[in-house]
Amino acid sequence: MLRSILIYLSQANWARQLITRWGFSRRAASRFIAGEELDDAIRVIKALNTKNINATLDHLGEHTSNPEKARQATSEIIEILERVDREGVRSNVSIKLTQIGLAVDENLCADNLNRILNTTIELNTFVRIDIEDSQWVDKTLKLFRSMQERYSSENVGIVIQSYLYRSEDDVTNLLESGSRIRLCKGAYDEPEKIAYPKKFDVDASFDRIVEQLVSGSITNHAPTLSEDGKIPPIPAIATHDEKRVIFTKQRIEKSGYPKQAIEFQMLYGIRRDLQESLAAEGYPVRVYVPYGREWYPYFTRRLAERPANLWFFLSNFFR
Ligand SMILES: Cc1cc2nc3c(=O)[nH]c(=O)nc-3n(C[C@H](O)[C@H](O)[C@H](O)COP(=O)(O)OP(=O)(O)OC[C@H]3O[C@@H](n4cnc5c(N)ncnc54)[C@H](O)[C@@H]3O)c2cc1C
Repeated sequence: MLRSILIYLSQANWARQLITRWGFSRRAASRFIAGEELDDAIRVIKALNTKNINATLDHLGEHTSNPEKARQATSEIIEILERVDREGVRSNVSIKLTQIGLAVDENLCADNLNRILNTTIELNTFVRIDIEDSQWVDKTLKLFRSMQERYSSENVGIVIQSYLYRSEDDVTNLLESGSRIRLCKGAYDEPEKIAYPKKFDVDASFDRIVEQLVSGSITNHAPTLSEDGKIPPIPAIATHDEKRVIFTKQRIEKSGYPKQAIEFQMLYGIRRDLQESLAAEGYPVRVYVPYGREWYPYFTRRLAERPANLWFFLSNFFR
């Protein structure tokens, strides 16, 4: 119930206008957001890199509502890829298709994505397409599949949500072309007719997809993380849930699968202890580093994931 309310608020303009005006909201959000400027994010990534942790950089923004803004968001993503290259940091970039125009016009979005992916080829790097709420899933997968005709899986990857009933079938199809897949549970509020309503089932689906990804990676010759930390292996297991992490590690050990052929991913500001212990064990770890002024929906989704975060948010009011 609380989760649904918070997810509703994450999409409501009136709530965004109200909450982003409060200074204490920004203070609370800074736990999950690297800062408002690219310089802030680069600083965070450099600190992560010293701990042997890689990053994926997200310039926050979604549901861009006009072509000009979508083109501008695209140019900014290209500048980020160039800056990451110049800085020589171990990071790739994550994007959302609604940020570059999917909600405006599919052809415009495809043109913008082509511009971004041409840059990934020039710079020998990788962009991950985040997955958004279910109204965008089909369109996102369709555009991703069409891009696979032109771009290598070393330059572009996708995300799958274990809460959707359809995901195991999607993964089977995606693995046929060796797609690099980030597996997460899913951050939105989806109806029971398309998504598992119970955490137990979402977790069970997650473990089944981990099995699929490990086997599918072996069939595709188990590519390993690139030396510069930019191009990920096929399975990217994105969770802070220790049971899922343990399950994945056991599955890898059982198959004799090299650690460098899988990576764990977590969000900035969440379970730093787990991030560091996995890196110390020799597993590739990548932290999702969001930055920018459009932090409101991302931050509210983080509140929705864990009710305790709501008290953390309110406690900032009294500081
Ligand atoms: C790298 C990365 C990329 C992602 N990309 C996408 C995407 O493209 N599309 C999408 O729909 N979702 C995405 N997500 C979000 C994901 O779907 C989940 O909503 C989120 O990761 C919480 O689920 P969990 O797997 O950590 O498990 P949960 O069962 O929710 O949590 C397990 C434990 O993790 C800790 N934890 C989890 N969330 C929080 C939090 N917000 N604050 C503090 N502690 C927390 C708690 O200790 C909790 O007990 C991504 C997540 C990660 C890590």
